[in-house]
Amino acid sequence: MLNKWEGIVLKTQPYGETNKIVTFMTREAGKVTAMARGAKKPSSRLASVTQPFTYGSFLIQQGRGMGTVQQGEPLESMRHIREDIVATAYASYAVELVDRLIESEKAEPYAFEVLVQALRAIEEGYDPEAIALFVEWKMLPFTGVQPILHECASCSAVDGEFAFSFTQGGFLCHRCFHQDPYIIRLTPTQLKLIRMFYSVPIEKIGKLTLKKETKKFIKKISTTIYEEQTGMRLKSKSFIEQLERAPQLFGANFESKKEATEETENPQADED
Ligand SMILES: [Zn+2]
Repeated sequence: MLNKWEGIVLKTQPYGETNKIVTFMTREAGKVTAMARGAKKPSSRLASVTQPFTYGSFLIQQGRGMGTVQQGEPLESMRHIREDIVATAYASYAVELVDRLIESEKAEPYAFEVLVQALRAIEEGYDPEAIALFVEWKMLPFTGVQPILHECASCSAVDGEFAFSFTQGGFLCHRCFHQDPYIIRLTPTQLKLIRMFYSVPIEKIGKLTLKKETKKFIKKISTTIYEEQTGMRLKSKSFIEQLERAPQLFGANFESKKEATEETENPQADED
């Protein structure tokens, strides 16, 4: 069966002298692995279109066993992502997260959309660290966690002060703080941001710029959820940590093109 699928190259693995095994996240069929014959040869018409992060349209022949990539046409080459080490590092994290959380050959259009939006935003020069954080929050349901962020997870109140509770899996209002001694108190801005990270499409919040401390704070929460729920340790995350510790070793420039110093006061006002 010959399928035409829209997909993103998540990773490749050399196979033999000239071939590559390519893992795609496709819109139509979820995660798919296929052999790209000859794709390791620079002269191959499959060489460039099977590079990681490429978003393209692919003809994949499937039969028994692993499918083969017959043709590929790039829709977006994601060149900036490949050329900028900081962009590469965070895009790798987004891609690895999707790869680890999504099962093979089961359509997950939401996850596909999250990944396309994220890579496109990084490609366009938005703060890659913030974008990777969006992906983390948006992929949470695939870890089995559906955080309750629209009301108090215990009493359903929507007003009052709020905190994040890992044991309750979401927000707790001040009336229920006593239920968890380890709550993380949130300011109204932090509360709003966490909700946005989880529920607003990336394309609508591309203009949002975040302070370093804000990202750190929000990341702390999602990292804890991931570690406790999945125990996953991603290779790309170790690389980001090295990069942050000694950027000069990698010639990295952390000033993203569109990063501002001030946080957007009312990010949703940017929706137009
Ligand atoms: Zn409550």
